[in-house]
Amino acid sequence: MNEIFDTDTTFASLGLRKEVLQGITEMGFEHPTHVQSQLIPLAIEGKDILGQSKTGTGKTAAFGIPVLNQLTESDKFGALVLVPTRELAVQVAREIDVIGKHTGLRTVPVYGGQKITIQAKKLERNPQIIVGTPGRIMDMNQRRLLPYKFLKIAMLDEVDRMLDIGFREDIRKILGAIKQPHQTVFVSATISPEIQKLARQYMDNPVDLSTVEAKSLTVSQVNQRFMAVQPWDKRRLLKMIVDREKPNLMLVFCRTKATVDKVAEHLTHKKIDAKTLHADMAQNQRDRVMEQLREGKVHVIVASDLAARGIDVKGISHVVNYDVPDDPEVYVHRIGRTARAGCDGQAIMFVTPDQGALVDGIMELTNTEIHEDSYDDFKDSPPPERDRRRQEAQAKAKAAEVENKSRKINKLPNAQAAADDAKFPGGIVPTALPRKGMGGRLRTRRS
Ligand code: ADP
Ligand code: MG
Repeated sequence: MNEIFDTDTTFASLGLRKEVLQGITEMGFEHPTHVQSQLIPLAIEGKDILGQSKTGTGKTAAFGIPVLNQLTESDKFGALVLVPTRELAVQVAREIDVIGKHTGLRTVPVYGGQKITIQAKKLERNPQIIVGTPGRIMDMNQRRLLPYKFLKIAMLDEVDRMLDIGFREDIRKILGAIKQPHQTVFVSATISPEIQKLARQYMDNPVDLSTVEAKSLTVSQVNQRFMAVQPWDKRRLLKMIVDREKPNLMLVFCRTKATVDKVAEHLTHKKIDAKTLHADMAQNQRDRVMEQLREGKVHVIVASDLAARGIDVKGISHVVNYDVPDDPEVYVHRIGRTARAGCDGQAIMFVTPDQGALVDGIMELTNTEIHEDSYDDFKDSPPPERDRRRQEAQAKAKAAEVENKSRKINKLPNAQAAADDAKFPGGIVPTALPRKGMGGRLRTRRS
């Protein structure tokens, strides 16, 4: 069975009208993906759907096609798609608009950072489908430029991100303001049980659709590796990766905007063409970088998690996790920028000596092995003075803490139980021997 495409099915057999089918054919789509062949007929029936499928499996068309199929030109403001970033609003609106080319339906992106007047003009023309970020959507609604009362279908792309703490309140306000009965379709590559519960509050007897099954959360087309590296050697290793791997297009994810800037600066200094993408940049700068990325005019983009979700750009051959993400689900989305729609891709993660538990957490969530890789001629360099002093201070503090604890423990009646705690400060106690594939590293189970 094909992992991505449902090769036994055609779009023509899904019950779509000919204007929509024509758009799909012109996109070059031959067979629907699994999530498309399952979600589209259910959505056409009018069901509420909570859909999960891996990154790059065509979720946009899965929720976009049924909307194009159901709405008519008189359905002004008939559908609303909410997405977490401006870049994604532009991309999703564009894809739906292109597929719907022959339907006469208009799709408009509404997002912050672009002049209100430009978008207001487009809304005055009564488009049928709106794709936007929550803040600007609410703003436009308050200005009475975007009514909710005609809405027939509400969609959340990246539903788990839209319902996490940063957006939750906005989503509650927007969806809560839709008073008439309407259909809801929410999708993501990662949906935890907690998010599922939250999502259901906005849905009417939803169908849980998952094409992920019990296996891995990541597509098999992506080759996942990690490299052990000292924090102060990361930039040197990154430069080596660019030289050795010769990426067609590489996306490098860092934890902070400051690191993004520093890393890009370093690469530029080393004569590698690198651009940045993060939320402190002006929107026109962000747009320019996205344009260059889509045109293949740049080889390396260093980005914050702003670019972690949804971005679909042909030719991204490599994703580097310069910093291990704290949240394992973020890893799934970051590496999902490569190996899309059945293509291959490389994912490399930098892991510093104290980050073993984070990597274990990622492997546990994704249910995939991330194998260790290294360059024979890449050696750790001695820590710079600043790091050396910090390390020494940390080691000293730790030793003092352990000493303190064992002094207390010796006075306790149940010394054995407490001794384990002293041996593994922080409470992470290994419960099993390391697996072979872990290269003899200790694997710990987090409770
Ligand atoms: P997801 O949201 O699941 O991560 P996207 O909707 O961004 O994935 O789609 C990934 C890519 O696959 C896009 O470039 C899209 O145009 C393409 N695509 C979607 N459906 C099909 C299909 N049935 N056949 C071929 N390509 C497809
Ligand atoms: Mg998507």
